[in-house]
Amino acid sequence: MEERLQIAIQKSGRLTDHSLDLLNRCGLKYTPGRDKLLYYGENMPVDILLVRDDDIPGLVSDGTCDLGIAGQNVTSEIRNKNPSDYHAHEVTALDFGHCKLMTAGPVTTNYQGVDMLSGSRIATSYPGILREYLKCNNIEAEVVTLTGSIEIAPQLGKADYICDLVSSGATLAANKLAPWDVVFESEAALLTNSSERTPTKQALIDKIVQRVQGVLQVKESKYIMLHAPRENLKAVTDLLPGSEFPTILPIEGVSDKVVVHAVCRETIFWETLESLKSAGASSILVLPVEKMLV
Ligand code: ATP
Ligand code: ZN
Repeated sequence: MEERLQIAIQKSGRLTDHSLDLLNRCGLKYTPGRDKLLYYGENMPVDILLVRDDDIPGLVSDGTCDLGIAGQNVTSEIRNKNPSDYHAHEVTALDFGHCKLMTAGPVTTNYQGVDMLSGSRIATSYPGILREYLKCNNIEAEVVTLTGSIEIAPQLGKADYICDLVSSGATLAANKLAPWDVVFESEAALLTNSSERTPTKQALIDKIVQRVQGVLQVKESKYIMLHAPRENLKAVTDLLPGSEFPTILPIEGVSDKVVVHAVCRETIFWETLESLKSAGASSILVLPVEKMLV
């Protein structure tokens, strides 16, 4: 029987579309199951399991799934709970699902710094991360663990302050709270484990990981082509952001100019193009890179 790889992603939430899009870009074609709990990989022996994000690190840690995509906030909290029983590790951060876990308190409080948390009650869904933060800052405070609606805890008298995920800050403002300090910065990440597996299965994991890394590199990368004066070639190539070995080609019948082709791994801004032009470059063309395997 063919061995199939299990990848866990969030069933329905902020990470779902990005996770499916990433797997798509890795070349995986899948058909959704009728109950939407499992997507069946058509062109690779891969099953996508759709689950709650909080379950993903555990599923990878206990070997039920070979790969998973979860927020570092969730992973870190679960690892903190029971470090000796946690066997998953991060392969790479994925540059989506960015958010910050922050302390916050009533707008009427004149916040003077982390020491103000001393002796207070702080409501959060991330008691592990918060306790570690308090410990690092030598603060003794009571951590009140709640599963939802953290922002209303101060109004309900359940806590003095809160520690919650913040993106725009609009929810905080609506509850007359102000953001204070960043406790933990997070983005989505690809997880795997070190379980023993057959060489075939391991090779498939390696292939997917390599493709994910390729997709991440391509995001910022551009292919640039231009004509450069031979006498100022070094100045022109030095201006190309994040390019290692540009290809230099002669132009038939022209002795004072060459063609430069390069992959730039960093964003090319208009300012860069303007500087290239000032350095003597002409016919500058910037193209998107679709796929890259290094
Ligand atoms: P589930 O039903 O899967 O448990 P959830 O309500 O816990 O869903 P979402 O709100 O969809 O989860 O958030 C999933 C992840 O998205 C978070 O754990 C976090 O890593 C990331 N995220 C990005 N921005 C935010 C934000 N503004 N608020 C909350 N989470 C965010
Ligand atoms: Zn969740």
